[in-house]
Amino acid sequence: MEDLIVLKNLRKVYKMGDEKIVALNDINLNIARREFICLIGTSGSGKSTLLNMMAGLEKPTKGEIIINNLHIEKMSEKDVTKFRQLNIGFVFQSYNLISTLSAMENVSLGLTFKGVPKSKRDKMAKKMLENVGLGNRLHHKPQELSGGQQQRVSIARAFVDNPKIVFADEPTGNLDTKTSFEVMDLITGMARENSQTLIIVTHDTEIADYANRVVYLRDGSIERIHQNEIVRGGKSR
Ligand code: ADP
Ligand code: MG
Repeated sequence: MEDLIVLKNLRKVYKMGDEKIVALNDINLNIARREFICLIGTSGSGKSTLLNMMAGLEKPTKGEIIINNLHIEKMSEKDVTKFRQLNIGFVFQSYNLISTLSAMENVSLGLTFKGVPKSKRDKMAKKMLENVGLGNRLHHKPQELSGGQQQRVSIARAFVDNPKIVFADEPTGNLDTKTSFEVMDLITGMARENSQTLIIVTHDTEIADYANRVVYLRDGSIERIHQNEIVRGGKSR
């Protein structure tokens, strides 16, 4: 199968005064189209750095990031932004919703930048919020919603324009166990339905049972990769 994401000798060093922090060291990884990958590792192992780099949010110090045959690390800021708008959805642990905007407005904001007309934006955002079970919360602001509901809004935002790749950085990190499973089911279910490539950072090994492959990070390196033969709950694809 053709690889959608190819990482070659990826390295990221942060400089803090005189100190150098090697956040990622020589990462090599290929991810196939429609694959569901879990990134696992202790705090500080480089999970967010790796995810942000694949999503074009940060530049590597060295190495290559090739997505859909395009070199992300060589793109200008403007081109990366465009690439992200067209191809990538991102779910953050802390939701990152805009507090002054309603659920509908948060979901449709990205479509504004793409020039989708208002009536179409509103229709898409409403439908997506209905899909995540928030059809009755369209005009609520983030602070008027529970944590689980806010994360559902952020999931709707990530999926609204059917991106090729969805990244999620500890999407259940601030949620209780029951809500965590609902949110995970929502993300994995939508990605499967839309044939999207899904990459989730977590430190919950139970969540990793859903994935096709689990990549274990340690001190900025890939320690091992585990292939799940039978994916729990028939989530295999
Ligand atoms: P994880 O998500 O696995 O907890 P991170 O990718 O956030 O880990 O961080 C990996 C390492 O890089 C950590 O040692 C962290 O302190 C460091 N780091 C991350 N971001 C920065 C930054 N912007 N500046 C300096 N150091 C950073
Ligand atoms: Mg992190």
